[in-house]
Amino acid sequence: MRVLGVEGTAWCASAAVFDAETDAVFIESDPYEPDSGGIHPREAAEHMGDAIPRVIETALDHARDEYDDRDDDEPPVDAVAFSRGPGLGPCLRIVATAARALAQSLGVPLVGVNHMVAHLEIGRHRAGFDSPVCLNASGANAHLLGFHDGRYRVLGETMDTGVGNALDKFTRHVGWSHPGGPKIESHAADGEFVELPYVVKGMDFSFSGIMSAAKDAYDDGVPVEDVCVGLQEHVFAMLTEVAERALSLTGTDELVLGGGVGQNARLREMLASMCAERGAEFHAPEPRFLRDNAGMIAVLGAKMAAAGDTVAVADSAIDPDFRPDQVPVTWRSGESV
Ligand code: ATP
Repeated sequence: MRVLGVEGTAWCASAAVFDAETDAVFIESDPYEPDSGGIHPREAAEHMGDAIPRVIETALDHARDEYDDRDDDEPPVDAVAFSRGPGLGPCLRIVATAARALAQSLGVPLVGVNHMVAHLEIGRHRAGFDSPVCLNASGANAHLLGFHDGRYRVLGETMDTGVGNALDKFTRHVGWSHPGGPKIESHAADGEFVELPYVVKGMDFSFSGIMSAAKDAYDDGVPVEDVCVGLQEHVFAMLTEVAERALSLTGTDELVLGGGVGQNARLREMLASMCAERGAEFHAPEPRFLRDNAGMIAVLGAKMAAAGDTVAVADSAIDPDFRPDQVPVTWRSGESV
């Protein structure tokens, strides 16, 4: 089976082709980079409108050029999968419209994918894990997922902003361009630890207090490099603490990381060390599968299509608040992809 995936929940217009036989994933992405400030939904949607046709065309050209097992009159892919949510409504609508039109014109099934479950499943697929806990540390989200009774349950989550969005708010305050996470990581290399608030409540965590304290510390003259170290150490320790509790609660010894903040080496180091200490396996997918990308949509789309979990165009509405625990996991019994 070969599946085209289309992603565009916020900033990354992306299309990918996954070939289940060889496990090869081709990804073509075109990021939206705001001139100043954060992601503006209308500008992001305008970017999607421009970029989505281009990235899809490139991915389909790849499928036609790379594989010569089909006649010219056959569709180059067996299904079209798209991110149905969560994400920015104006962006999701453009991606869904493109995916529906494409599936209909190629005469192949349409698959509606939950973007956060895709972040988890790409890690599970690449690691070959059976039933891991997943820490999704992305821009707009931060949560721990574990599989129970046919669904991915949210074991713990942010009580306010997503982890990447919180980091980006601090970097906007100090005048750095979006995205801020990589800049925090590079500046932290030259800093010293400073104390900031640490907020874990049960299995949930909060980032708003730590961000206000970080902005205040910067305004009070604490060197920005030191604030960056403080931010990384506190925020990532909070995520690591709850990830450890989730492992303990579920009894699993597999942890996967998902989301763009997962590109941070210090976060990966903390999670790897926690897992090593408790004898668990840890897998962080390669960066192209951590940040938003259509590869993860194509891979989960193939699993869902193989399980017959496709959607009629009439039922394929987007859902900007689509939670992972709303998704019946149809593809894990008798997995063939
Ligand atoms: P979501 O999956 O919730 O829709 P998203 O659309 O915001 O997330 P992602 O690609 O998952 O996109 O994550 C982007 C976030 O990752 C941004 O907030 C960015 O600052 C952060 N980020 C990227 N690289 C790093 C890094 N090295 N360290 C910390 N944060 C990072």
